[in-house]
Amino acid sequence: MSSAVVKHATCTGCGCACDDIEVHTDGARVTRAVNACTLGETWFRDHPADSGEPAARIDGKPAPLADAIALAAEMLHAADLPLIYDHGYSTCEAQREAVALAETVGGVIDSYTSRCHGPSFVATQLVGKVSCTLGEVKNRADFLLYWGCNPAETHPRHTSRYALHPAGKFTPRGRRDRTMVLVDVEETATAKEADQFFRIREGTDFEALSAMVALVKGQAVDERRVAETGFTVEQLRLLLERMKAARFGVMFFGLGLAATRGGHGNVGAAYRLAMELNAFTKFVALPMRQHGNLVGSDMVLRWTTGYPFGVSLSRGYPRYNPGEFTMADLLARGDIDAALVLGSNAATDFANVPTIEIGPKLTPMQSGAVPRVQIATAATGVSAGGTVCRMDDLPMPLRPTLTSPHPIDEAVLKRILAEVRKKPAWYPMRSEAQIA
Ligand code: SF4
Repeated sequence: MSSAVVKHATCTGCGCACDDIEVHTDGARVTRAVNACTLGETWFRDHPADSGEPAARIDGKPAPLADAIALAAEMLHAADLPLIYDHGYSTCEAQREAVALAETVGGVIDSYTSRCHGPSFVATQLVGKVSCTLGEVKNRADFLLYWGCNPAETHPRHTSRYALHPAGKFTPRGRRDRTMVLVDVEETATAKEADQFFRIREGTDFEALSAMVALVKGQAVDERRVAETGFTVEQLRLLLERMKAARFGVMFFGLGLAATRGGHGNVGAAYRLAMELNAFTKFVALPMRQHGNLVGSDMVLRWTTGYPFGVSLSRGYPRYNPGEFTMADLLARGDIDAALVLGSNAATDFANVPTIEIGPKLTPMQSGAVPRVQIATAATGVSAGGTVCRMDDLPMPLRPTLTSPHPIDEAVLKRILAEVRKKPAWYPMRSEAQIA
């Protein structure tokens, strides 16, 4: 095994997708990841070239890869309503194959987005949004409002690389040119970096943000109602004055807004506030996306089907309905009779459904049940190349540093798709002559 150094590698440990990592390897595993935070370093070190997994398992026993692929294709083809579910750690190229597979078997495709920032998409569809890239944040933003998120623990380099600390074109003194405010239900590690911290009462984000929208528009608000959020009207007014005085303001919101009760309403109010502030200054709102390439999954689904998650292709054309075509709801109703999971099963239990698992770590489910088919693949970003999307939707190329004995997700999905296409189509396919 020979050692190597790869510069400008992209970390997929979180949605920041930092692309300035210098990765040192001994040929078998990553020994150092310079510039990476502890989360990123752990991500690289946790994925050696050879995970020690067999090529595949069928019913928990090692099996040839070709047999596993044939059985996976048979399961998906025979199912009445198969689900393709993506945990958000595959490349965009693999996710594109997953959509093609879902379409070919007439199934449903969903991702972990339905369990985290799905409501943020619903809010976008209802309200719209004003957005920007992290490069613009770095170069222009002089006011940062973090709401319902704790980047110090979930996105450790977010403030140092993109938002609060770096010197930008219009913020040459870095931290000294910026103001940071944190709103959360508890004083987290991120509060140490903030100029001002507000503790909001749990479950009142919509009320607080709606009051801010009203105040920006010069409308009256009920002081007693505002007090229920933990803010006073005066505090909201002063906060709004600071926001309006910014040259370029950014609100970053997390799962504290999106994944709590009325998430789409909370995020919709945040987007509405950012929009209203544009009557005074430039202001944007961005979700703090987590999993390495969950944004890529949304992007691929959007450009192939028109919808970001929870898409049914069971009628041969895309239908979108969160709450109906989303994984948790499909499982709760017992609607699906086969599942292909991209990424670890450990996070979600498909125990009552014949399951195919594709990923670098083959794990039993939470219940201890073993997926029917498991196929080991190379780890995205460590030993598998391709493209991922950063939390601001920007595509980032990967620079793999190790060589895995296992195939990449994309190759496995392509082989399953090829096997499925050898079988009779589930609906009358158009002939080549008709397409021409
Ligand atoms: S902040 Fe996220 S992407 Fe950047 S090094 Fe840390 S884990 Fe990796």
